[in-house]
Amino acid sequence: MSIKDNLQSVKNNIAEAIERSGRNPEDVTLIAVSKTKPVSMIQEVYDLGIRDFGENKVQELVDKYDKLPRDIRWHLIGHLQTNKVKYVIDKAYLIHSVDSVKLAREISKEAVKRSLNVNILIEVNVSGEESKFGVSPDRLIETVEEIAALPGIYIKGLMTVAPYVVDSEQNREFFAQIMKFTVDIMQKNIDNVSMDFISMGMSGDYKVAIEEGATYIRVGTSIFGERNYNIL
Ligand SMILES: *Cc1c(COP(=O)(O)O)cnc(C)c1O
Repeated sequence: MSIKDNLQSVKNNIAEAIERSGRNPEDVTLIAVSKTKPVSMIQEVYDLGIRDFGENKVQELVDKYDKLPRDIRWHLIGHLQTNKVKYVIDKAYLIHSVDSVKLAREISKEAVKRSLNVNILIEVNVSGEESKFGVSPDRLIETVEEIAALPGIYIKGLMTVAPYVVDSEQNREFFAQIMKFTVDIMQKNIDNVSMDFISMGMSGDYKVAIEEGATYIRVGTSIFGERNYNIL
């Protein structure tokens, strides 16, 4: 299958999931996850109309940012180290992976220094897997409150990476929990917090994620094909 066919089939699946769940098509945005993929492939997807791209490494995002059209919205979806914040803070449209107060403090410091307002999501480790980054659910509210008090930083919602599963139905409960946390936080009316976005769902489970309320889905393999980390 070509990238064009892949993208069309993802779009069809998205439309069907939106239809099934009675949601508004405008509320779901596809992020094409382009990590490890060359600029030429990203340009191809761009030419097919996609403007949101996701990268998990700062260096790779910054390199591609310089080589591709300026109206791309770059989403940083991978773990961010505090010492790399300064390189990406003015290039990422949204940082999905804020997983500690320490990281948020660094983002805030850099934002104030450069008079930026930085939009972030809080990553939640909803499955409790040890290999995963993210705030644990029992510390979520206090973490949100602490980060929301920092200058230059706006919490726009939550993000999660669900476990790798063969049957995507197994992740439905995790997505439903993220939706519940979103509602809980919204009801607290915290300053500088607007729960506009829920970033969840990848190639294996984005249909279920949409049914459970995802506003951003992050799809790599189903658009670009398998990744080969060896060639990099
Ligand atoms: C790589 C990655 C994705 C995309 O995964 P696919 O299974 O290829 O769709 C989504 N989210 C994050 C955080 C990733 O690192």
